[in-house]
Amino acid sequence: MKKSVLITDLDNTLFDWVDIWYRSFSSMLKSVVDQTKIDEELLKTEIRTVHQLHGTSEYAFLLEEVPSLQKYADGKPITTAFADAIDSFRQARQEALVLYPGVLETLALLKSRGCTVIGYTESMAFYSAYRVRKLELDGLIDYLFSPEDHALPADISRADIRKYPTEHYAFKKTDHRHTPKGELKPNPHILQEIIRSVHTPAHKCVYVGDSLHKDIAMAKDAGIDHAWAKYGKAQDRPEYQLLREVTHWTDADVQREKEIHERNMVPDHTLENGFKEILDLYDFDGKAE
Ligand SMILES: [Mg+2]
Repeated sequence: MKKSVLITDLDNTLFDWVDIWYRSFSSMLKSVVDQTKIDEELLKTEIRTVHQLHGTSEYAFLLEEVPSLQKYADGKPITTAFADAIDSFRQARQEALVLYPGVLETLALLKSRGCTVIGYTESMAFYSAYRVRKLELDGLIDYLFSPEDHALPADISRADIRKYPTEHYAFKKTDHRHTPKGELKPNPHILQEIIRSVHTPAHKCVYVGDSLHKDIAMAKDAGIDHAWAKYGKAQDRPEYQLLREVTHWTDADVQREKEIHERNMVPDHTLENGFKEILDLYDFDGKAE
């Protein structure tokens, strides 16, 4: 089967998002608990409320909005009051932020054959773009589709939080586009829309993702050839429990996931050990017709 476009999920398909999230978040939480002696369960409950309010489990102004921490800081800027926690977060994130083995080589090979690579993630724009830049995927991914960012706190502008000039944050090559507000995987229409936007027939496209119930369900319903990135599956790992405890998912999201789970999802193909197995399954020749 000759293919010219690879559409790939990012989190837990190209890198271990759960590991990155867990290591950075848990280091920060531990530092905050050690410093303040505030009950960890209370903090988790308050954190979940903030995450739900903003619709993300990676919210840069989290500490600023947790009531117990506001009280503890007692008017001091949060970035000063919790400087150690913020440092721990950044250091752990830096250590954890790596691609899965074989990802870079595979994407580079696809590019050398003239294929188009599209990233499609549900992580918000700023956080997705940060990872794409740091992982040196700018240019290897031709188009990145992500939701827009959450709103910034009322008293903060984007210029305030940026250490470097705007150019530092912009991609050099990757074209970053936004998915429609409130539209989520496994909605097949967004995937069909993405494919239409690159003017390539659907049978020339392949989709890869780690979630059977979001990525694979979506690709199936959209009628797109696909492979399940089984190696990225994280839901059964112990770290996932902390994510569940502080997640932004609402009860309605959990219910939706349960309903989707009831579908028996059999993927076209399974990538058991790594992303590069996609090269054994399809012939990427880069020809659009
Ligand atoms: Mg994923």
